[in-house]
Amino acid sequence: MSLNYGRPQVSIPGPSIIPDRVLNAMHRPSPNIYEGALVDMVDTIYPDLKTVAQTKHEVAIYIANGHGAWEAGLRNTLKAGDKVLILGTGKFPITWGEMARSHGIKTQIIEFGMQEAADPNALLEALEQDSENEIKAVLAVQTDTASSVKNDIPALRKVIDQANHDALFMVDCIASLGCDEYKMDEWGADVTIAACQKGLMTPAGIAFVYFNDKASDARKRVQPGEYWDWDLRTKTDMFYRKFDGTSPTHHLYGLREALDILVHEETIEACWKRHATFASSIWSAIEHWGKDGDLKLNITDKSKRSTAVTTLATASDDATRIREWCEQKAGLTLGIALGFEGEAYDSHLRIGHMGHLNPPMVLGALATIETAMKALKIPHNEGALSAAAEILAHHD
Ligand SMILES: *Cc1c(COP(=O)(O)O)cnc(C)c1O
Repeated sequence: MSLNYGRPQVSIPGPSIIPDRVLNAMHRPSPNIYEGALVDMVDTIYPDLKTVAQTKHEVAIYIANGHGAWEAGLRNTLKAGDKVLILGTGKFPITWGEMARSHGIKTQIIEFGMQEAADPNALLEALEQDSENEIKAVLAVQTDTASSVKNDIPALRKVIDQANHDALFMVDCIASLGCDEYKMDEWGADVTIAACQKGLMTPAGIAFVYFNDKASDARKRVQPGEYWDWDLRTKTDMFYRKFDGTSPTHHLYGLREALDILVHEETIEACWKRHATFASSIWSAIEHWGKDGDLKLNITDKSKRSTAVTTLATASDDATRIREWCEQKAGLTLGIALGFEGEAYDSHLRIGHMGHLNPPMVLGALATIETAMKALKIPHNEGALSAAAEILAHHD
């Protein structure tokens, strides 16, 4: 007999749990797409999106997923024959690089593998070797959603300045925006790439590209094509043109509600702290389980771990067995191992802890994983849930 009745939960690194308030805000008749309430409402979205990324610069909104925002970022700043330097932490920057190559852009990749953050010294060295200034942009992720590593964005900026190199610094924050602390202007990112379905708690379908004046200058030397042109979206007064056609009406209402929750009720700073506490409690539970068994955090250095997603390793195929048990027997969906190949695929899984989360959701996910280990007779140390609770108890 199954226990899997009641409300299912996704604990995957995107899409994240959608608040009922966001879903309800989307449940409405189609609005006038040329004037009136929708247009007025969307005007209020831009400043809140800027608060979330801590920038005063521009943000263009696309009907797209994260890949669409990648595409927009590349098209507005680069052209065939240009070269980009990719900080290859985990899987996502590598895939972004493949997209760049599909545009005829040359890529130089510094590989950091599946367990390390980008080393600023390696970036410095690569930029210093580029005496002809061939590299037009440095592409990095803040959080790699496959390995769950977090890059030190200010430290990377610092070495770009130290090398006195004028490459654009483009940062993919798709997994981290609205979860990990991020300060676009203070940290010196020129372009920030994001999407709505992770920290921003809205069904997949809207993506964001933030860009500063330096990126705007780069836009002048390329031809992004009408649909992807960020100038069109940010410089027109005509609402219909902002989306180069019909706007994603219902998604925008959902996003408005999500921003109310995040920016106006919780505040972005409190949200970063909440995610940090949840992440610590999850790490602590995994460390506890692993004291008597094979469970391990994929990223050993705590300061390099994402607060939005955690990748963990098990013995043999235990990760896949845990995932399948949790989904089939308990209604909890955990993240598959991305970027781990062969046998490593079955010995890794990811816990997404981004967005609309409270202690019952986090503790519920951890307790369900522990239940799976008991059911599957996977060795683990006791006390992990108390360790997690202890950390939540001290959140202030
Ligand atoms: C989720 C994610 C993507 C891809 O986003 P899609 O919406 O699936 O296209 C890219 N980069 C990072 C860091 C992500 O977490």
